Amino acid sequence: MKKRIVIDKDKCISCGACITTSPNQAIKYDEDFKAEVIEELLGEEDNIVVEVCPTEAISIIEKEDKE
Ligand code: SF4
Repeated sequence: MKKRIVIDKDKCISCGACITTSPNQAIKYDEDFKAEVIEELLGEEDNIVVEVCPTEAISIIEKEDKE
């Protein structure tokens, strides 16, 4: 099982906290200024971005690694 982060764009208020705390610009705004994952984060960074989001829009799910 592989961990990945998901962002509920309906809950995103475009505060930018996850973007400024994500390493290597792994999260960016999309064209609607909602946060989206550009590059999967692995390790402790996952928990950091989850904690900084004021609306709990970010969560971690476990997904089967099909590749
Ligand atoms: S921290 Fe949460 S509310 Fe702020 S930009 Fe990221 S996903 Fe949106």
